[in-house]
Amino acid sequence: MINIILLGPPGAGKGTQADILVKKHGLVQLSTGQMLRDAIAAGSELGKRVKSIMDKGDLVPDEVVVGLISERIDKPDCKNGVIFDGFPRNVPQAAALDKMLEGKGLRLDKVVSIEVPDEELYKRVEKRVRETPPEKRRSDDTVETLKNRLDVYHAQTKALAPYYEAQGKIAHIDGLMTIEEVAAAIDQVLFPAGGGLLGWLGRLIEGRK
Ligand code: ADP
Repeated sequence: MINIILLGPPGAGKGTQADILVKKHGLVQLSTGQMLRDAIAAGSELGKRVKSIMDKGDLVPDEVVVGLISERIDKPDCKNGVIFDGFPRNVPQAAALDKMLEGKGLRLDKVVSIEVPDEELYKRVEKRVRETPPEKRRSDDTVETLKNRLDVYHAQTKALAPYYEAQGKIAHIDGLMTIEEVAAAIDQVLFPAGGGLLGWLGRLIEGRK
């Protein structure tokens, strides 16, 4: 079992890389953004509560996402490991996650930070807006909302890097490489080269941290 976080700004490619990890390693992707969009689509009370917050690009309350994750991770399909995507987004959520995992007898193995400069993120979202018909576009996928989502990222989510640095769990990856190169770099981090002696030693040392 391997539990990981994909960290990075909106548009960094977390979803794309999560899809690859799901297909290749049988992990389950836990995307709080998707769970919230599903709640909105289902017209639930929760969905009604979070819609306007999400359309602005602000964070929904911590207890909402922590609750969603806590319930979802108990499902049997998560037993091979999960990819947290879009969660945690601030230090209180990270602390809640640590506590939750400990309570369930689980652990966080690695945090993969996909790094992309803001100007490239604007280019990507502009391209997406140009190329995706309105009915297929996420309602928060606009250049204006991206600005706020990025502000929130810089103000709150970036603080997770030192948080996980202190735990010795973070790996930084250049998100400007091609999708395949990023995927290969992530694989290298999660499944260090060779299942042989070196790989075994690496895992042994990791386990002691
Ligand atoms: P992106 O990473 O592209 O911004 P997400 O799908 O991860 O997109 O999130 C979309 C929106 O859902 C966020 O702007 C926020 O309003 C809400 N959201 C998702 N995850 C969280 C979270 N962990 N905490 C608070 N709000 C969240």
